[in-house]
Amino acid sequence: MKVDAVLIDLDGVLYVGDAPVPGAVEALERLRDEGIPFRCVTNTTRHSRWSVAARLRDLGFAIPEAWCFTPAMAAVRRLGEEGVSACHLIATGDVHRDFEEAGVRLTGGEMPYVVVGDAGDRWTYGSMNRAFRLLVDGARLLALERDRYWRDADGLSLSAGPFVAALEYAAGVTAQVVGKHSPAFFRLALADLGVPAERAVMVGDDVATDIGGAQAAGLAAILVRTGKFRPDALAASPAVPDRVLGSIADLPALLERGG
Ligand SMILES: [Mg+2]
Repeated sequence: MKVDAVLIDLDGVLYVGDAPVPGAVEALERLRDEGIPFRCVTNTTRHSRWSVAARLRDLGFAIPEAWCFTPAMAAVRRLGEEGVSACHLIATGDVHRDFEEAGVRLTGGEMPYVVVGDAGDRWTYGSMNRAFRLLVDGARLLALERDRYWRDADGLSLSAGPFVAALEYAAGVTAQVVGKHSPAFFRLALADLGVPAERAVMVGDDVATDIGGAQAAGLAAILVRTGKFRPDALAASPAVPDRVLGSIADLPALLERGG
């Protein structure tokens, strides 16, 4: 497969829980040796860009922070495009940092947007109800991602999608999604590479958001059988991957630099 650039999902592709996928570090080194540039596009909404990069370093990956694209970055951009400088954010970890550093107000005053990420144990009846009331009062709903689930070290775990769906159902609204599978998110990373979609490939473990999303944005897409990969999810998927690999370790042998 000839390509000029690669977009790589993180969770389930480069690592699972706290362990790197065997051969992943070496695979990225080979891409670099062969002159195939890459960027990381993660749907994680539990970490800021800064801590995503720090975590990669801890796992042994030499990936600069500037190469990591998160849904929070896309959300900050979307709010900026709409001239909005405040939002009610429901997320966990240090993802608030991406908003605060961009000057977005997260507390007090009018909240024109409810922004929802994977909030883990921060989801309570109270936090759901607060978001619901803001939506009923006219706030718009922005989903950092709407994945159904992800694979944590101890098993499959609910992602933001089920909670986004609950808020949509209760308030009678439709969320705008800024992370994968939104084509704009893939374009954000492609623009940084200066490579058009048709000359790039996405590598991911989620057949819906990584594969379906990338293909809708015009990229080829490779599914890996690590992370959240499930044969039944692949069989039931309307999106058909261009290739399926055992893991990212098999990627360099498949790719050659396009011309
Ligand atoms: Mg993944």
